[in-house]
Amino acid sequence: MPSPVGVWVVAACFNEQDVIARFIDRTLVVPGVDHLVLIDDGSADATAQRIKAWMEDHPGAPLILLELTRNFGKEAAVSAGLDHARGAAVIVIDADLQDPPELIPELLRRWREGYDVVYTVRASRRGESWLKVGSARWFYRVMGRLSAVPVPADAGDYRLLSRRAVDALKALPESHRYLKGLYAWVGFPQASVSYHREARAAGRSKWSYWRLWNHA
Ligand code: UDP
Ligand code: MG
Repeated sequence: MPSPVGVWVVAACFNEQDVIARFIDRTLVVPGVDHLVLIDDGSADATAQRIKAWMEDHPGAPLILLELTRNFGKEAAVSAGLDHARGAAVIVIDADLQDPPELIPELLRRWREGYDVVYTVRASRRGESWLKVGSARWFYRVMGRLSAVPVPADAGDYRLLSRRAVDALKALPESHRYLKGLYAWVGFPQASVSYHREARAAGRSKWSYWRLWNHA
């Protein structure tokens, strides 16, 4: 493996056919972004085909597609992406444009100040019901009480990890993962950036309340 250079972005996609091309366009023009790894998490729609069509239209673009053999869930898909991402810094982001790629330069700024984990905190959440926002708030409260490691409340998965933080995560043996907990568990200097979370650009959330409950 060559020594890690550049900034890599990792996004898991499950049934994101209506937004994925826009996501790629918006992400690859962000200053500082060098590579994008998309993980198709067993989509049942045309997500993978749309990504391949985009790649055919943009030969040589710094985009890698991983296709999982079935839907494994976001945590597993992101873990696969982290295994494949090289780079001195890796950014994990949702593919539905709820996490604005335009925030990446701000994450990079904090990383250059010396932080290994720069997580984002949702100052507001648009397009989400009070039940979702309220249940999420309670989930983080209860997790905070139960966990020996403080997990920042209302922090999303959208974050930057330094190479050594990625390597620490990769060394963990857990296969059934709660990434937000593990990001906190690995330690290292951590900083936060707050942002306004948009509604999804298209499609719908994959997290039914039943699925969220099981995840919890
Ligand atoms: N996702 C995934 N596999 C799944 C469910 C979701 O890769 O089984 C991806 C999805 O495509 C999106 C991100 O994880 O990029 C967040 O999912 P979603 O937007 O449904 O969650 P929410 O924003 O509603 O919490
Ligand atoms: Mg979403």
